[in-house]
Amino acid sequence: MSEPVRPPEVDRVAASRKAVAARRARASLKRDLSTRVVSPQDVLRAATADPQSAAGTLRVPEFLTALPAIGEGKRDRVLAELKISPVKRLGGLGARQREALRQWLDQRSPEPQPRPGRSRLVVLAGPTAVGKGTVAAHIRENHPDVLLSVSATTRAPRPGEVDGEHYFFVDDAEFDRMVADGELLEWATVHGVHRYGTPRGPIDRALSEGRSVLLEIDMQGAFQVRESDPRATLVFLLPPTWDELVSRLVGRGTEGEEERARRLRTAKAELAAQGEFDFRIVNDDVADAAAQVVDLMQASAR
Ligand code: 5GP
Repeated sequence: MSEPVRPPEVDRVAASRKAVAARRARASLKRDLSTRVVSPQDVLRAATADPQSAAGTLRVPEFLTALPAIGEGKRDRVLAELKISPVKRLGGLGARQREALRQWLDQRSPEPQPRPGRSRLVVLAGPTAVGKGTVAAHIRENHPDVLLSVSATTRAPRPGEVDGEHYFFVDDAEFDRMVADGELLEWATVHGVHRYGTPRGPIDRALSEGRSVLLEIDMQGAFQVRESDPRATLVFLLPPTWDELVSRLVGRGTEGEEERARRLRTAKAELAAQGEFDFRIVNDDVADAAAQVVDLMQASAR
């Protein structure tokens, strides 16, 4: 039987739809690069693995200008230095050019290397709406052996929140006392309003029993924990894409327009600090991200 003959315009429409989708995918990838949701090294690896992918079909000059702090002048200097023609796509680089580009990227923004001798105290941080709470709740339900730290806060309980389970709800005077008595491992004023802090006692007890401990706190808190305990493991949770982060924030509908814009600005600043973390985990699927966090805990020495 012969193939049914399709009118040429059907093919043309299909081809132009495909071209539009590919352009959109490349635009989205460039946003991910500029916000640091993906690392340039990851994009280069994806391009090499599949030259037809959005990463593979991205032109090298566009890839370079999508990186933070690279303008057209710098782009042209880098292309000349690496001897890469501006018409080249990432997936079409020869082995030598690809290696030169990789080395240049590594020098410019080294990929985080986990530090040796980390403890079972794991801090989960990441930008707004990335799903830290959901990942932590998944671990609480499926791994009761892990202690999920309960913070103290001066904010009022929301409907359904239980004292001692979601937070210890305390007033300003009690929070001051906890700080003065050294009861908090770290504390911070979050979103410029209320204070939140991590009680030290339950954590020390759990760690001494050989249990793992998970802290779901903000970035300032994460760095304070590292200061008090340099062996703590810092994990940065990433959204699969920048567009997905924006749509999760809009979708949950708990913030107004202005607050959303403010949180997205903070998210960009937080994403820029991810290099300080020991590990990065992409929250594409909650169960999968939770499993990766638990694996890290089990891999830690003590
Ligand atoms: P919410 O008020 O929505 O429960 O939490 C607001 C923010 O406070 C979240 O970003 C959360 O990670 C952060 N947070 C919760 N507990 C602590 C804590 O003990 N210390 C610090 N530094 N941040 C916390």
